[in-house]
Amino acid sequence: MNKNLAIFTKNLTKIYHKKNQKVNALTNFTINIPRGCIYGLLGPNGAGKSTFINIIAGLVKKNSGVVNITGINLDKKPIEIRKKIGVVPQELNIDPFFTPYELLELQAGLYGVKTKHRKTIQILEKMQLIDKKDSYARNLSGGMRRRLLIAKALVHDPEIIFLDEPTAGVDVELRMNLWKYIKSLCEQGKTICLTTHYLEEAEKLCDYITIINNGKKVLEDKKENLLNLFSKRIVKFDIENEIIKVPHILEKFLKKSNHNQLTLEYDKKEINLSEIIKILNDNNILFSELKTYDEDLETIFLKFTSDLYKKI
Ligand code: ADP
Ligand code: MG
Repeated sequence: MNKNLAIFTKNLTKIYHKKNQKVNALTNFTINIPRGCIYGLLGPNGAGKSTFINIIAGLVKKNSGVVNITGINLDKKPIEIRKKIGVVPQELNIDPFFTPYELLELQAGLYGVKTKHRKTIQILEKMQLIDKKDSYARNLSGGMRRRLLIAKALVHDPEIIFLDEPTAGVDVELRMNLWKYIKSLCEQGKTICLTTHYLEEAEKLCDYITIINNGKKVLEDKKENLLNLFSKRIVKFDIENEIIKVPHILEKFLKKSNHNQLTLEYDKKEINLSEIIKILNDNNILFSELKTYDEDLETIFLKFTSDLYKKI
């Protein structure tokens, strides 16, 4: 088995049974995650992202398939794998009667970290929780709980960190801070596997992205390559003077035009917004407002899943 891969799964399959109905949460899911990178699993709700993490964390039992973590087989050595990974769950479940300090000490104890090797205070400082170290967890805000769960996943200094939707429901400032922190973990040589349903998050953070939908892999690639596929953008202008003729050069981007609105759909690789604005100016087309829209994930999934079906 290739030890340079932090995470390897082959044909991973999970079927849940819900009220006599089968839910195919993961179907033949195969993935190779190199060491030392930030790897994003991007997909809408219900895609199977948490199932993937929960299987590796030992919280959900797979039906079939292989999981290897740093070359170690999950079926053969689950305890060895548990020591190598830190998992930050999607749900903000924290025992309300412990303080952050107690919770981290308890976790360190569970993982057999000797007292002299514990870094409880440093971790609390890093996660900006030191002021709250002795407050009951029930008094912590959502953002603090999220940071506490990350802190908890780090106490045994794992090589691989799984973050399940780390910034869902988190405000913009905290999101930026978390991104910075996740990057710094990667710079320390850790492998990060995170799930998200935000295209922007995958774009800002990840070196590699796998897109998952309905338990199946839709696409995987280096981020740069994937983003080139997501290069469609729509811009809507509120026009101040009536358009007599859409400039020839913009005709091929035209989606809709009427006397007070002009909507263009363009490819960021072909033309950019400032070029479009210049063309409008040169043609004396004045606008009061503009709005841009990126293709959203749902559209991208639909496009790629339907392309995939066409090939079959
Ligand atoms: P994601 O994390 O991408 O939102 P999940 O892995 O949580 O997706 O869920 C994948 C599918 O499996 C969904 O259809 C979900 O309803 C179903 N599922 C998840 N957990 C359970 C469970 N414990 N019992 C039954 N169905 C489940
Ligand atoms: Mg999930």
